[in-house]
Parts: sequence; structure tokens; C-alpha cells
Amino acid sequence: MGVIRTQDEKGYRDQISTVDNSGKRVWIYPKKPKGKFYNYRKYVSYILLTILFGLPFLSYNGKPLVLLNVLETEFIIFGIYFSPQDFHLFVIAMLIGIIFIALFTVVYGRLFCGWVCPQTIFMEMVFRRIEYWIEGDANAQKRLNKSEWTTGKLWKKILKQSLFILISVLIAHTFLSYIIGIEEVWSIVTDPIGEHLGGFIAMVIFTGMFYGVFSVLREQVCTTICPYGRLQGVLLDEDSLAVTYDFERGEPRGKLVKHRKEKKRDLTDGVHALKQSVSAYPADALKTMFKDLESEPRQGDCVDCGLCVQVCPTGIDIRNGVQLECINCTACMDACDEVMVKIYKPEGLIRIDSYNGVVQKKKSVWTARAAAYSAVLIILIGLESFLFISRSDVETLLLRTPGMTYQTSEDGYISNLYNYQLINKTDMQVDVTFKVEGIDYIVFEPIGNPPTTIKNATTEGAVFIKIPKDKLTERSTKIEVQVYGNGKLIDETETSFLGPIKSSRKIIK
Ligand code: SF4
Ligand code: SF4
Repeated sequence: MGVIRTQDEKGYRDQISTVDNSGKRVWIYPKKPKGKFYNYRKYVSYILLTILFGLPFLSYNGKPLVLLNVLETEFIIFGIYFSPQDFHLFVIAMLIGIIFIALFTVVYGRLFCGWVCPQTIFMEMVFRRIEYWIEGDANAQKRLNKSEWTTGKLWKKILKQSLFILISVLIAHTFLSYIIGIEEVWSIVTDPIGEHLGGFIAMVIFTGMFYGVFSVLREQVCTTICPYGRLQGVLLDEDSLAVTYDFERGEPRGKLVKHRKEKKRDLTDGVHALKQSVSAYPADALKTMFKDLESEPRQGDCVDCGLCVQVCPTGIDIRNGVQLECINCTACMDACDEVMVKIYKPEGLIRIDSYNGVVQKKKSVWTARAAAYSAVLIILIGLESFLFISRSDVETLLLRTPGMTYQTSEDGYISNLYNYQLINKTDMQVDVTFKVEGIDYIVFEPIGNPPTTIKNATTEGAVFIKIPKDKLTERSTKIEVQVYGNGKLIDETETSFLGPIKSSRKIIK
């Protein structure tokens, strides 16, 4: 990125805002944000939280709508059951996710972090709001923390921490219900602890983890732990949109002194009057006013009020340029817009824009890099869709038993022995029958029990295929076998049948 003029050119690059010179953590007390972007974020967070807490309760055909049981390798996504055999679909889905995030970041910067990421949603829209509600805004919180312990302070701290723990318990239960299902979680909650000791311990660990993240770690997750923030440096370019300070317009920054304020207001009124052809401001008076202003050193629109820094949940100064700590929460945009309105300046000194947007006043999000990522993304989505549509519930492998040739029986049949492998990708038992569609004289005789597959498992067995000798015209005959599961055609496979007649290959359909 290009050079951005700043009053603290070096300082912010030498250390992060949440660590002091001695290496100790600086606790961030962000001022409570307000404004239109904050309101939009609230609405987005209500929707996302409703989905997050509501999904585990939804079921389809008696199965949870979403289940990600990594312990028993059972996955249900929108009612569709996936087994470990669908691992390739997961790998491609993960690649799609990574490329989508890269593409999204190239174009829109780190907007995901501030608006959609569960860490930010819980931190800023749940835990932080509870804190504001109990302890007040940033300054009140600072004062409270510095004050002596009194009954009032004790009660506030107990109430806050109790609510934090309660919400952490709720998040832990929800998180676990995505893994083991809501019914299992309910059993852990209602049955005696001894019956689900493992589940209970998992709950306690997850609760502790979430409590630690939201009450202690906080912005450190975004600024030092999450790898996505680190990726910004390589993903963003000069056309990427991000929360950006318009340094062309804002610099040189400086306090708005009273006489300047008045002059500017006069000028604004004068121009307004001129536009409306009102003679309240004669041309001479306007000329003098312009001259006066011209003679003064140029001042940018930033009045250096520091509000954008005070509301920042990661404690940075966006005027130093795009930084990896910035989660694009847009709180500084709201704060600055409020100031701009008060000093009769257009909003958007801090806005969603690109470096080129600020310097060259042009926005071009569709760059060669974005086009390349999009092409890869479309190819991967196409591949994933094809594999998903052509995916069968039971995958069949039918191979002639190695080292065996054909056998002739007295009833005039030639038989070959086959080994089969059935990979059941569903969550139910499937009774399998083999058939060669339209040819009744081909007989399948399983050895032992008829082929049955249990849910999410691989079953192996052996089967004789028998064909009347007089129907065979070839030494090796290719046959296409249809596989029926619980009476429904579920798969097709191809194998070869050896007979006594020596000749070229032919396919029986
Ligand atoms: S809020 Fe706006 S005017 Fe105030 S310091 Fe930040 S950029 Fe400057
Ligand atoms: S700089 Fe602005 S957008 Fe970035 S984290 Fe701070 S307040 Fe949010």
C-alpha cells in the first residue's frame, strides 16, 4: 500500500496498540459505538445469532438439519447425510471456502471479521453490550476498575461475570449440540452427571474456553491469534475495499479552533445563499471571506478529536492506514460521521474505500486477481456440484475372486465367484440385491447371508454369478450389474464373467 501521511508515522508500526513498551497488555476500553453502521451490525447479529442458536433444534425427516459429529464421523448438512467416504466432497468444499474467503478479502477486505465472524458477533454484540449495560461506557468502566472495592463495585462485577459465565455455558451447549446433537446434549443436562461424565467434562472445558475468550482474550483473538488477519497483507491490494481514512481530505489534521469554525460556518451559509441567489451575502463580502480563508494555512477535515480511536475495539488509529488489527467493524466510520455532521462537513472521511479510491478517486474492485480467484472458484463449485449430484448412497465394488476361473455345474450353468464391497454412505441399514437388468437367466447366489450394509460402514462378502452355458458366446463377457438397495436402484457396476468359450469380448446389457 502507498504511504499515508500521519502524525505517528513510525510508532504504530513498531508495536501493537494492545501492548505497552514494557511488553504488558494494554486493556482496551472502547467507547460505546453508535450510528447507522452500528445499527446495521446489530440487525445482522440478531439474524446470525438466531440462526446459530436455532439450527440445532431443527430437524428434517427425523434427523437433525445440521450435525457435524466428528467423533463418530457422521455429518448431516441440511438433512443430507455424509459419511467419511464423502471426504473428497469435504476437501473440495474446504477449498471452495478458502478461495471464497480469499476472493472476498481481495475485493471487500476484512469485512467478514467485523460483521459475520462469531468471535466479533459475540464479543461486540453480546459480551461488550452486557458490559456497557452493567458498568457504563468506556470512562465509567475505567473509573470503576481503578476505584476501591465497594459493595456496589462488587455487585457489578459479580453480575457481569455471572452473565458472562451463563452465556458461555449457553454457547458451549450450542456448540456441542452441533457435534453430538441436541437430544444427546439434553441427556447430558438432565441425566445424573455420572451417566455422561465425558460429555459433562466437555461442557465444562468448552464453557471455560468461551469464557476465557470473551472475558479475557477478547481482541487478542483477532489481533494475534486468528491466522486470517495475518493473511490480509498478502490478500489486500490497492484496489481492495476496506475501512479507510481519506488522508487526502483529512490531512493535515488539526483542532478546529473557534474563529475557524465560525468562518467556515459563515462561508457555508454564504455559498448556500449564493446558490439560492439570495442577496444576503453580497459578492464583495464573499470575496473577502474567501481571501481570509485562503490566507490561512490549509487544514484537512480531520479535527483530531480522536473519537475514531476511542471507539475502536482493537485500539488502533485507522488514520495510520490499513492495519492487520483492523477488523473492519466500521465503528470508527460511525464516530467520524457524527463529528463531520457537527462541523458541517460531508460524511465519509472514514469510509469503505480502497487506496486507489482515496488517491485516484476511482473504484475498481474487479481486478485481474479477483477474476483469477473467481475462475478457480467457479471451476471448484462446478466440480463439487457434479460430484454431489452423481454421488450414490451405496458404493459398490464387485470383482472376480483372484485366482479363480469358472466352474461348470450339472444343471448347465457356468459360475464365477466374486468378492463384493458395499460402502454404505447413509444413516440406515440397506438390504442389497444384485441384478442384470432385463436378463433373467443371470443368477446371483450370495455365499452366506444376503448382502446387507449397516449405516455408515463398509460390508464385504462373496457371491456367485451364474449364467447358462448356452447363453455364453465369449471367453470373457463384460456384464453391467445393477445394485438395488431396499428395492431401489442405488448403484451400477461393471465386471467380467469367464466362460469356457474362447473368443473376443462382448458386453451383455
Ligand atoms: S473521528 Fe474523524 S475527525 Fe475525529 S480524529 Fe477520527 S478521523 Fe479525525
Ligand atoms: S479501525 Fe475502525 S473498522 Fe477497524 S477495528 Fe477499529 S473501529 Fe473497527
